[in-house]
Amino acid sequence: MQPPHTRISIRTPSRRSRSFVLRIAFGVVAIAIAQANTRVMAADDPAGKPGQQVRMAFVGDIMLDRDPGKAMLAGSDPFADVAGLLEGADLTVGNLECVVADTGTRLDKHFTFRADPVAIPYLARYFDAVSLANNHTGDFGHVALVETMYRLRRANLPFFGAGLNDREAHTPWVVEKNGVKIAVLGYNEFRPRSFEAGPKTPGCAWSDDDKVVADIKAIRPKVDVVMTFMHWGEEYKLQPNERQKALAHKMVDAGADVVVGNHPHVIQGHEYYKGRLITYCLGNFVFDEWKDDPEIMKEERRMGWVLRLTLNKSGLVEWDAVVPGAAGAGGKLGALPASDAKVR
Ligand SMILES: [Zn+2]
Repeated sequence: MQPPHTRISIRTPSRRSRSFVLRIAFGVVAIAIAQANTRVMAADDPAGKPGQQVRMAFVGDIMLDRDPGKAMLAGSDPFADVAGLLEGADLTVGNLECVVADTGTRLDKHFTFRADPVAIPYLARYFDAVSLANNHTGDFGHVALVETMYRLRRANLPFFGAGLNDREAHTPWVVEKNGVKIAVLGYNEFRPRSFEAGPKTPGCAWSDDDKVVADIKAIRPKVDVVMTFMHWGEEYKLQPNERQKALAHKMVDAGADVVVGNHPHVIQGHEYYKGRLITYCLGNFVFDEWKDDPEIMKEERRMGWVLRLTLNKSGLVEWDAVVPGAAGAGGKLGALPASDAKVR
């Protein structure tokens, strides 16, 4: 097994002997890194202004049905192997790629994900907010999505990118931490479009360009940092497509400081545009998705970025990513270029 590939400050590495078989059963992507139980600490504060910066960790797809769900129902914490990667972050955000509900009717759709409500305390323990803007929060109809939102609210776990109507779905999660006010908007643009919220129907926020630009411009003067969390692109493509690039650039032009993407299930790298960071796809975080077709990019699909951002009132100060990954693939995809984020 390869060690984790990471550029960040790693301290107090220790050993853990969780069985590999168990980790596979969990469906956790961070397989290889977990065995070292790497304790990840935040990067040093370069500006030397404690309290004026906030550290955020973003992760990709979290799917708590199927194998992760079975492990959870058997009493295991589905995040046990990767929770350490979130340590040191002031705020943690992930994409919840399933509904969490007892209700609903499974749609006639290739993949449908519904987690048992026992997932809620785990999500609330590890995350400060989750995005519901994706191609699975409609898998069991409106009733299951509404139940999911109700359960998240009751657990005081904020969500964004979906709502009881389109106005709610397009409302950003706004949070103030260490004196820095941050807004995160979530959008989906992967089919089916029927999952989009309407004026009077629940669903996710769809990334119509004009609406996205209007949303960003509306929140821009009210906060210090604006971020978008996208669900877009093509599955298993290691590079973003032209549509992703065009929309990302448009979001930056409208005032977004950082653009973060998800959905393709593999890491898609990053770009700077006008000095702003765009990460096109973080890949999977907790998922057993590679099992659907084990011959296709099995290793790459078991990897994901834990994207770690240090922000201040002026935007992004610095960033890095922890790259959990499977043996053999980490060297290819895990080598990150130097962080050269510009401060505005
Ligand atoms: Zn997806």
